[in-house]
Amino acid sequence: MTTLISFGVRTVRSLASLDVDVFWHDACLDHDPGDGLWELPGHWPWLDQPEPHPENAARLRTFRAVLRDGPVAPRLRWRTGRLATVAELAAVHDRRYLDRLRAACAGPGRTTMEENTVVGPGSWEAVCAAAGTTLAAAEAVLAGEARRAYALVRPPGHHAQVDRADGYCLVNNAALAVEAARRAGCRRVAVLDWDVHHGNGTQQLFYADPDVLTVSLHMRHGPWGENHPQTGAPAEVGAGPGAGRNVNVELSLGAGDAAYLCALDEVVAPLLDRFAPDLLVCASGFDGSTFDPNGRHNLTAAGYRKIGGRVAALADAVAGGRVLFTQEGGYLRGYAALCLHALVEGLLGTGPLLADPLAYLPDDSAMHPERTAADLDAVRAAVGPYWPELFG
Ligand SMILES: [Zn+2]
Repeated sequence: MTTLISFGVRTVRSLASLDVDVFWHDACLDHDPGDGLWELPGHWPWLDQPEPHPENAARLRTFRAVLRDGPVAPRLRWRTGRLATVAELAAVHDRRYLDRLRAACAGPGRTTMEENTVVGPGSWEAVCAAAGTTLAAAEAVLAGEARRAYALVRPPGHHAQVDRADGYCLVNNAALAVEAARRAGCRRVAVLDWDVHHGNGTQQLFYADPDVLTVSLHMRHGPWGENHPQTGAPAEVGAGPGAGRNVNVELSLGAGDAAYLCALDEVVAPLLDRFAPDLLVCASGFDGSTFDPNGRHNLTAAGYRKIGGRVAALADAVAGGRVLFTQEGGYLRGYAALCLHALVEGLLGTGPLLADPLAYLPDDSAMHPERTAADLDAVRAAVGPYWPELFG
């Protein structure tokens, strides 16, 4: 087998499969934030039964189950991830923050890193497994062993900033993949984030970097505390040489499938085509689903299937088919798992394989196209000066 990938001239000759390689590490299950409710950790005396923190191991086990036992299973190749080293984590994070995080994970009890984010015994191994498994997936794509790799990991990463945890995120897995790509010779990398929340950590890490295009599609939620000062507004376009390379597609509440597809077609696709990344990294969250307790942005399984199709086509068109996914949010675990399966169906172009038992519920999210048009006009107005040939 010969594999030749030349990022410089954007040619690929690889025998890597067009199926999806899924990367997994058992230690991702070891992070236990304890009890919680909706977005928050802790206990509520008025509950008959304690509920688990929204970001819990059961959600990742459910995601694994749907891919292992669902109808896409024959098209997936399961591969074992690895633990990242501290030196690897330090490619994007401050060493003192990593020391603080590791000490907080040493127990014996749990430590609150910020309002929503709790660590305890087992969390450090999970952090290293999530990061290392993402790196293993990236390395497989970069070596030409895989075209489409999905790092099925937790804790998630896209809110983690250089020296702070935020929003259940401790280490920024997508950002580590970007740095791995650069070490492998990639000149430009694009990050596309469809978690319902703003990818503020990834934004912060590459805000002044002209060679990393960060695009986040999210609900208009604004800053949410000391650890999350970024607003996610279109006006946050990047700084210095990175100006114009951070694109915030802030969608009105309850945007729905139609708005996301419109944003991908009208804003994201032309940007990626023009930027011509060597690798596409996707921060893949399912908390935009219509039933998610932390999102409720009216995306359906059918919508995620179409997003998967769009992403496959985009990766093929602009990045030689090289695309890496890191698992971000998605907290109504059964429906989020269905959405994950649908996304993979879209990637593979299989058409619907799993029925959505909730598809009968009415969806009025497409009834306000003028709202989406205004949202996208705001994005074009903000970044247009930096992309005059596209939006000027
Ligand atoms: Zn989220």
